[in-house]
Amino acid sequence: MPRIIQSTQIEQAILQAYHTFPFQIYPQVLRLVSDAMETETEARTISILQSILDNAQIARDEKMVPCQDTGTQIFFIEIGREVLIEGGNLEQCINHTLSQASQENFLRASIVHDPLFDRTNTGDNTPAVFHVKQVDGDRLRIRITQKGGGAENMSRLIMLTPASGIDQIEEQLLRVVREAGSKACPPLIIGIGIGGNFEIAPLLAKEALIGDLLMPNPQPEYAALEQRLLQAVNETGIGPMGLGGKTTALRVLIRTAPCHIASLPLAINLQCHSHKHTEIVL
Ligand code: SF4
Repeated sequence: MPRIIQSTQIEQAILQAYHTFPFQIYPQVLRLVSDAMETETEARTISILQSILDNAQIARDEKMVPCQDTGTQIFFIEIGREVLIEGGNLEQCINHTLSQASQENFLRASIVHDPLFDRTNTGDNTPAVFHVKQVDGDRLRIRITQKGGGAENMSRLIMLTPASGIDQIEEQLLRVVREAGSKACPPLIIGIGIGGNFEIAPLLAKEALIGDLLMPNPQPEYAALEQRLLQAVNETGIGPMGLGGKTTALRVLIRTAPCHIASLPLAINLQCHSHKHTEIVL
């Protein structure tokens, strides 16, 4: 027997999530910002980090968005094999709910109909971006994140070849971070996708961003690489909001996938400090 989940249950859960998470910078980010304040020595840098913490507190208390750009709405969905959704198409149900949630919570409308020929606003942040995967079990897991345009614009996909190796990965990352400068609103969370192909690598990088920021990578060699890359990024001296300092990034997270013998895809997805995401499990 399948486990039936009504589309109205999904709508309620998403509406409830939207009443809180857009107003709350992810707590792990704030913890890393607090930690960074201990390592910075310049008064100006410490004051910028303190402003990020103060802004986050005001946003949470006053139910105001921490940044005006509430971004593209990205849904990572895992549907258990035993789940049957009744009452509507999942994507339609989510877009309908997103429209309602955006209007009820006064989220800035940030999506246009067509990239070139009709840049009129859809008015309600629809359509969302969906990534749907079938998994074992009888649960529906929905992870939602918002991706601001500034940081997304400075993200890059680079199709390296296997001879490039780790040194090239570091070089490319530093090039991307330097090019971004203040435009991606550092301190950054950096999602890196290595492997897969032209479409998988960016997806790995994006999903990396919603990983646990306080846990090391479970694979020791990648945990060490994350540390090496974080240190290299922070040695650029770009600092919080690009005004100098030791904290250009708070965390580097790497996700990998098998890849073609001739390829070494590298995707670098920059995320700003205004990093918000949430998870619903039904
Ligand atoms: S990059 Fe982030 S902090 Fe900067 S404007 Fe966009 S959403 Fe806001």
